[in-house]
Amino acid sequence: MSENKVRVRFAPSPTGPLHLGGVRTALYNYLFAKKHSGDFILRIEDTDQTRFVEGAEQYIIDSLTWCGITPDEGPHTAGNFGPYRQSDRKPMYRDYAIQLVESGHAYYAFDTSEELEEMRAMAKKAKMANWQYNNITRMSMKNSLTLPEDEVATRINSGESYTVRIKTPRNEEIRFQDIIRGWVSVNSNNMDDKVILKADNMPTYHLANVVDDYLMKISHVIRGEEWLPSAPLHVLLYKYLGWTENTPQFAHLPLILKPDGNGKLSKRDGDRLGFPVFPLNWLTQEGETYSGYRDQGYFPEAFVNMLAFLGWNPGTPEEIFSLEELVKAFTLDRVSKSGAKFDPEKAKWYNQQYLRSKSDQELAKLLMPLVDTEIPEEKLARIASLMKERASFINDLLEVDYLFDAPKTFDEKTIRKKWKDSSAEIMQNLATHFDSITNFEAEKIEASFKEFLQQTELGMGTVLPLFRLLVTGKAMGPSMFEISELVGKQETLNRLRSGIAIVSEV
Ligand code: GLU
Repeated sequence: MSENKVRVRFAPSPTGPLHLGGVRTALYNYLFAKKHSGDFILRIEDTDQTRFVEGAEQYIIDSLTWCGITPDEGPHTAGNFGPYRQSDRKPMYRDYAIQLVESGHAYYAFDTSEELEEMRAMAKKAKMANWQYNNITRMSMKNSLTLPEDEVATRINSGESYTVRIKTPRNEEIRFQDIIRGWVSVNSNNMDDKVILKADNMPTYHLANVVDDYLMKISHVIRGEEWLPSAPLHVLLYKYLGWTENTPQFAHLPLILKPDGNGKLSKRDGDRLGFPVFPLNWLTQEGETYSGYRDQGYFPEAFVNMLAFLGWNPGTPEEIFSLEELVKAFTLDRVSKSGAKFDPEKAKWYNQQYLRSKSDQELAKLLMPLVDTEIPEEKLARIASLMKERASFINDLLEVDYLFDAPKTFDEKTIRKKWKDSSAEIMQNLATHFDSITNFEAEKIEASFKEFLQQTELGMGTVLPLFRLLVTGKAMGPSMFEISELVGKQETLNRLRSGIAIVSEV
């Protein structure tokens, strides 16, 4: 493996179903890795056991699998940098925290949570803005910087619980270059002394994340904008651990916004706004279902294509890209800095494009499991061909009850506007005329219909709507000649004849 090999990771915490923003982060990581012949790693960040949710890890795997963005390394795949689940790596983090204490970049803190609460309450009373454990306040707290050395040793040896906090420097500019945002600079006086090792000896997100990125030889950290405020601390940790040379490059992705642009599209927006925000259905412990794109009938290719365009564009007007094409076209410098408004209509549009691009045979195969009665594949292919242009989802292709059963209701507006005294006789004659067609195929039916118009000197606008009304019950729809062929000769004639009686009564 060359030292410069691109290695990126998607590092979700299994705290619930993966939001579509999370899938986009995974997708951009995947695209970037594949574009540079690199590795895409899945790492499960489950150090916070209090937020662990049963089934969430499996949901992450299933979502990535559905999207076709398979990790090269991860808890369910082999790899040389495992384990890939942080709870399985527990013992290795503590040493790094102690190393930081020993090199003077971190310290032991003995303050109890009650004491910390007290400090916060006092500060609030004194009308001081949010109290923080930082490079000023730490000197009045109970820690290894303020307590005598022997007392620190006694406390530790007697089993008193403590945390390890990072010792942020005084008044130092922490700078790094973000691929998407350019130079980011933060004064360390605005940072707090974050806990890096908890009282139970478990690392916090920051320590575990940095240690793992280093040990897994991560070259680029591509993640959501919500992690930008943590990046200066991570840069500092790399420096204090002696890994400055190995600091990965950062790229913080823009937020995905609600359709009206007002705020971040949150997990709670799912279904409330009338569209899913999750890739797959998710059943909560309370028995509530959050809907997912897969279960709503979206094709994974359409979902992935739509996601790729939420915050990135190829710089050309072209919008339809397969996963392979995305890999070729993707660059981080075309990812925008500003938030991307989510557009549910665009999601449907993508699905429609992918549906149209499938052959009738492919669609027939997808329809097969959806119809209860046995319908020959050939007929399903014809139905697909007939309905394709009007459908966004596979299910829409079957919104043609009349292909299977005679209509029970007839469009009233058409009856009022088109059904005249002479209509019954015209339809009767049309049925008789069609009776002489031997091969009841769309083309023949059309020719026979035109012949009928000529002979009767009636206009298309008079006869076609009545013909449609009696056979389908509708005012509009696909070609009547195709429909008639699919319905079959006998059934078409039956419907014409029995429809006359029903409609004349209305
Ligand atoms: N575990 C973090 C998350 O849940 C990972 C953030 C990162 O990629 O550094 O998003």
